[in-house]
Parts: sequence; structure tokens; C-alpha cells
Amino acid sequence: VVVVALALGSCSSSGGTGEARTRQTGALPARTCPRPPDYAEPNASRPRYSLSLTVDPDAGRVEGHLRVTFAPDRPTDRLVFRLWPNGPLHAGAGAHLGVAAVKLDGAPARTEMPDPTTLRVAVGRRLRAGEHVTAAMRWFLELPGPVLDRISSSGAAVRLGSFFPVLAWVEGRGWVLDPPTTALGETSTTPTADFDVRIDVPRGTTALATGEEVASGRWRATAVRDFAVAVGVFDKTSGIAHAPDPVRVTIGVEEQAAASGTAFLRKTVTALEALAERYGPYPWPTFSLAVMDSLGRAGIEYPTLVFQGEDSLHWATTHEVAHSWFYALVGNNQARDPWLDETLATWGQGRSERAVAEVAEVAVPADAAGRLGRAMGYWEDHEDSYFEGVYAQGVRALHALGAPAKVDCALRHYVARNAYGVAVPSDLIDALAHAVPHARRVLARFGAVP
Ligand SMILES: [Zn+2]
Repeated sequence: VVVVALALGSCSSSGGTGEARTRQTGALPARTCPRPPDYAEPNASRPRYSLSLTVDPDAGRVEGHLRVTFAPDRPTDRLVFRLWPNGPLHAGAGAHLGVAAVKLDGAPARTEMPDPTTLRVAVGRRLRAGEHVTAAMRWFLELPGPVLDRISSSGAAVRLGSFFPVLAWVEGRGWVLDPPTTALGETSTTPTADFDVRIDVPRGTTALATGEEVASGRWRATAVRDFAVAVGVFDKTSGIAHAPDPVRVTIGVEEQAAASGTAFLRKTVTALEALAERYGPYPWPTFSLAVMDSLGRAGIEYPTLVFQGEDSLHWATTHEVAHSWFYALVGNNQARDPWLDETLATWGQGRSERAVAEVAEVAVPADAAGRLGRAMGYWEDHEDSYFEGVYAQGVRALHALGAPAKVDCALRHYVARNAYGVAVPSDLIDALAHAVPHARRVLARFGAVP
């Protein structure tokens, strides 16, 4: 997510010059960056979701059915789904996600909700590593009104992010049970999965969603860690980015948002190409961006789909595109280690737009200084300092390593090694320390080393 709390100077806010600049700053010289390995493969036994949803904005309701086949890589006696719309921020705005008729391998299953965002489904026995189980359920989502967040509705326009019951498993670690946050930020941690989704929208509206529309209302996405949907009356513009393989980029400007689809398309293509050159190939065939009301300068990232406000073009676009590498491709525990994706997305944005030095100079308030590695539980009590403490201070820490090209090289290797997985701070710190020997000591000063 990015809600801009500082005014970046001419580089990112003047527009028009980004293209020429990213071309100049282009590829990493081979002699300073050894070729990284190919991306790690996505887990072959990743979850497979079949999802259907009917969006009814007039009734303020979305309902659907979910079926998911899952095989843990270590024994467990339960499945855990997170119901993020029931977190305090969304619930406070009127959202609610409920489930019914929960089944495991076709038989009714016993469920418990230890808290509003956690649904435990008892397997009734010990599921062995590698053993498949299929869970199915109906679900119902009550929509809030227009809010600056991932679930929102305004007239015919509906934004759906983190909206359905989602498995919260991390390979090698198990179920992720971190609490939701009252701050505007993500707390979801999910495995890479495949999605086959039917989306039913009211006549006269269309959807933009994660992955690609393979038939009318039918979407498929491969090796993505979440699935998001935007519904509304969209003016769509599309083009091709070479990142380096062709990526079909679709910009949808919702009718309640006043923005230029062409300008968003140009900015998005430029960002995808520049970031792919820096951090490695963009691995999916599509990228979509929904420009919607009530998001202002902000943006919210999901795999291959981002939501942005009508005033966000120069503030959020490159940042949200950078989350394709840092969050979507290389995941992280967003509740415990928000800096892993937010610092790196801001760094990628700064490098692409030549604004790193400027961001690194942003004043960091006392309650944030030296606390870069803190969890959302800390930042929700210091929300006014979150942007400076994680986004700007993280860029300051990487800038303090003194060799931006080496940092980029380290990030390229970090992406390759952790692709499709869920990274932890030591994965990043080790990659940086390999490129810059004193990295660990410098990062410790900022509170990034656990
Ligand atoms: Zn972000």
C-alpha cells in the first residue's frame, strides 16, 4: 500500500521525464552484478482455488462459493482461513465476511472462529505432509460504503481485495496467525496458488481482476498469492510492456474517477520495463490497474492488479508496480515484517525515478528512528510515523550502504532465490551482506536486524 505522506520533488511529481530517466539508469553492468540464478519454481503442489462470486452493489453484498485443494508440506490437523474483512478497520466501516456449509472432502466439517479474522477447520485427523484435502464453503460479504481501503463500494463501483476466506500457510513454517491491524496496511501472508474464478457482475459493468479473463466472466491466474477484483463502469486502455516478455497492460478508469488512462498506461509500462531490467523478469502475462474513486493519491497492490486513486499517477504507480517483485513474487509476512515489501517497493520506485537520495533525506520521527524492523502492531500505535519509519527510513538504510547498484544487484539475487516463496528478514539481510560486506552493521543501526 502507499499513502503518500511526503511531497517528493520534481522527479516523481512533475511527470513526463520518467521515461527518459529510467532508460538512462537502465541495466546493471554485468561486471558489478554476477548473473543471478533463474527464479525458484513455484511449489508444484500449491493450493488450487475454484472461486465464484456474484457482485450485487445495489444490495451492498457479494456472495460466492469457494473450493480449494491444499497439501501441507508438514503435518497439521487443521486448515486455517483468514477472513480479513472482519478486521477492525473494515468491520468498523461496515464490512463483514461470513461462511456456511463448510466441507472437507465432501463431508461437513467442524469449524471454530477463535477471533473474527480466523476460521479454523478441523481435519479430524492428522493430515500428512503432501496429502491433499479439498475444502469447500459458501461465503457472504457485506460491503462497506466508499472508504479509503481495499474493500469499498460506491454506486456501481466495487473494490474487492483480501475479500474471501484465504488459506494462510507458509511452507516450512505452518499457519500464519498474526492479528489484523487498525492501520492502513496489509497483514495477510499467503502461499502462491492457482485460481479459477467466475465473476458475475451487474449488467452495464465490467470487472478487472488478477490474472486473465479466459472467457466472459471467467478468470484464471497461475502462481499468484492472492486474487483481487475491481468492478465498475470502466474506460479501458491497453498496451504491451516488454518486461522483457510481452505483458498485456490494462488500465481501467472507473467512471467516477477523473483520470487519463493513457497517462496511467504510459507510466505503468515504463515502470514495468524499468523494474524488470533492474530486478528480474516480470513473470505473469498480464498487469491491470484500476483507477477508482475514494483512493486519492493512494494505491493498493495485489498480484497482477492494483487499485489506485485518481490523483495517484505520479505518487503511487511505480511503487505499486514495484510490489509485483516485492510482495507479489517474493512474499513476506506483512504483519510482522512490513518493511520487507514496503521498503523495497519504495526503493524500486526511488531508483526508477531517481528519487532515492531525496527519500533518504526525509526526517524520521523519534518514535520511528531505529525501528525499521518493527511489526504492524507497533506501527498501528505510531501510525503518523509509519510512512517515515518504514518507507523512507528503509530507503535511508539501503542508501547508507553506499552503493545503490550493489543494492540493486543484491535485490535481483534476493528476488531470484525467493521467487514465489515467503521471505524473512535474514533472506534480505544475507543477500545485502553478500554484496556489501558491512551491510549487517549498517542495517542494525536502523533496527532492521532482528
Ligand atoms: Zn506499498
